[in-house]
Amino acid sequence: MTDAIVFTRGVPPTEAFPTRQLAECFTAALEGDTAVVLQYGQQQGYLPLRQELAKEYRVSEAEVLVGNGSLHLQDLLSAHLIRPGSVVFTEQPSYDRAITTFRRRGARVVGIPLESDGINVQHLEAALKKEVPAFLYLVPDFQNPAGATLSREKRQRVVELANQYGFWVLEDIPYRKLRYQGQEHPLLREFDASRIITLSSFSKLLSPGLRVGFMLAPAALIKAVTKLEEDTVLSPVLPSQAAVAEYIRRGWLQPNIDQLKALYRPRWEAMANAVRTQLPGAQAFIPDGGFFVSIILPESARTENLMGRAKDHGLILTPGAPFFADPHDGKPVPSERFLRLPFCAVTPAQIEEGVRRLATLL
Ligand code: PMP
Repeated sequence: MTDAIVFTRGVPPTEAFPTRQLAECFTAALEGDTAVVLQYGQQQGYLPLRQELAKEYRVSEAEVLVGNGSLHLQDLLSAHLIRPGSVVFTEQPSYDRAITTFRRRGARVVGIPLESDGINVQHLEAALKKEVPAFLYLVPDFQNPAGATLSREKRQRVVELANQYGFWVLEDIPYRKLRYQGQEHPLLREFDASRIITLSSFSKLLSPGLRVGFMLAPAALIKAVTKLEEDTVLSPVLPSQAAVAEYIRRGWLQPNIDQLKALYRPRWEAMANAVRTQLPGAQAFIPDGGFFVSIILPESARTENLMGRAKDHGLILTPGAPFFADPHDGKPVPSERFLRLPFCAVTPAQIEEGVRRLATLL
């Protein structure tokens, strides 16, 4: 069989890691602040990194928690906010691990249809008239899995609704800085931060193995989640956090992001072109950034059925259903025909060949 082409996980390829620079920063951090970095402590995160983030997002240090990856913080936040009988709203489709986490913490998860410009706000309002969620989980920029970006108007409307009905909005923005075209929209918190919790991470900007993610929220909420974290992991991984702080202090982060965009942009273009030219029967969504193109297969096709045959043809695909809180109510994006196509870890040549194999199968 020809080499398999893998369109499954949205993880950075090894060549995306600034290994030598990180090694220098780890050394500097371990030697420069040994007593803090190699000790227990700093439960809310390494102070110099919290200070950098506070400056960037114009919040106080008390409103920043840095922990072991954003998914862990999201889970701790869920443990804090979800009560027996709680409902959590997500976009439909949404990040599959987030849906799993919310359910494991006891929430009923309700999916609100996603459109090319983000969550459908009419559906959101209709759902709010029935019940108010503990929180609404959004990935507003280059969404995982669909690639959609929430429009400015909808951002403002979601913030108004959160204030009106009294629920938290969790904006998860790990891909936001990887924009390949177009203008950035404001963060939801920039309209009014009182009901907004922002989550992000250095996983896509430096390396996932570092496990450095962060949360911005009102101080009382940060304090509660920090207590949960302390009771779970004692201290976060301080050497990683200190290395990231050093990396930022040296002015290396933005140049690294520029390099990553130079790596990913041709892959994004290749995927967009291949999908447009080779899959005319599929409904494609091409994002302005991030890691994911997504498509809705033609009427007669089903992602699950395609997967087995694709494997025989050297193409590894991901099922669509886990991204749907309610896979049986997949309108307007039918879960059985949804296919996520990550382009981050495949070369333009592999992308062209992979989409050609997909087109042949269809
Ligand atoms: N949120 C989203 C939307 C993601 O796609 C991912 C990673 N795939 C995460 C959170 C988890 O990030 P981290 O490595 O910071 O835990």
